[in-house]
Amino acid sequence: MLTGYHVAVIGGDARQIELIRRLNEWDATVYLAGFDQLNESFREAIDLDFDSEQVEKLDAIILPVPGTDSDGKIEGIFSNQLIHLSEEWLKRTPDHCQVFSGIANDHLKDLAAKTNRTLIPLMDRDDVAIYNSIPTVEGTLMLIIQHTDFTIHGSKVIVLGLGRVGMSLARTFDHLGAKVSVGVRSSKAAARVYEMGLDTIDMNDIENADMSCDILLNTVPHLVVDASVIKQLPSHAMILDLASKPGGTDFRYADKRGIKALLAPGLPGIVAPKTAGRIIADVVSRIVQEGSRKENE
Ligand code: NAP
Repeated sequence: MLTGYHVAVIGGDARQIELIRRLNEWDATVYLAGFDQLNESFREAIDLDFDSEQVEKLDAIILPVPGTDSDGKIEGIFSNQLIHLSEEWLKRTPDHCQVFSGIANDHLKDLAAKTNRTLIPLMDRDDVAIYNSIPTVEGTLMLIIQHTDFTIHGSKVIVLGLGRVGMSLARTFDHLGAKVSVGVRSSKAAARVYEMGLDTIDMNDIENADMSCDILLNTVPHLVVDASVIKQLPSHAMILDLASKPGGTDFRYADKRGIKALLAPGLPGIVAPKTAGRIIADVVSRIVQEGSRKENE
């Protein structure tokens, strides 16, 4: 339970709706900004007044998954309000106030450093990334099914990267009956691919690897699907790039060759905002409660 906790939720998308619901269930005092055009109303939540003494009570501030833009502006799909996170405002929060964000850009890191507030980029955490890989894989399946005219079963699938997303993708596509190869660069990851009963592609020598496949799924946030890879793909192949923007694919060359290539960011928030919101709420609640236990020790 979060009884006695004061949490401000500022901006965001459908994921925040589930987060707010959870915070209310857990009895936190919730302040909202950036939700004035939301059809649903949260009876227990209070409108955040940036100029009031509410600010001095805040134990936590929860920003949208993208955090702020490079000027400190916070985007929200439920409001036209311009919300700006300033150094002066953040300094008015209590010293222990934690700032949660999905990802943290340089502006946000700089702001946290200048105000001496703890910034927690949730997407950097293994637990959040692994939980989020579940809706990411489901979104991947949805897009592949929508954009191909052949079954996943029996297809040759290459997954590049065996991190938190790559591992879940490789396992799921294997279970669906695809012939899966995984591109890795370390001997440790190669051993894991072997243990999973899948084929390994050595990404240190990708120029000489056999990259022909029906479906190429990239999770490596660097340009790895370059012209040398794309030229090996048959014309019916599809590239789905899941890595953070701008992805790891030479989209221009794929287009020139007539290969369907899509960059698909933010799948959890698109295909399963409720689950994605719960993942954030559960982790935020755990971190806040751990913090309070430490303070009381
Ligand atoms: P991760 O756990 O860090 O995995 C990244 C993988 O890329 C690791 O296997 C890493 O190998 C490999 N890698 C990194 N740089 C490489 C390089 N230069 N050459 C070859 N391999 C390289 O990350 P993740 O959580 O799986 O996320 C992967 C990407 O997907 C990120 O960009 C993330 O932002 C994005 N993402 C997208 C969605 C979506 O909806 N589209 C959802 C979640 C995450 P090593 O282990 O050898 O370093």
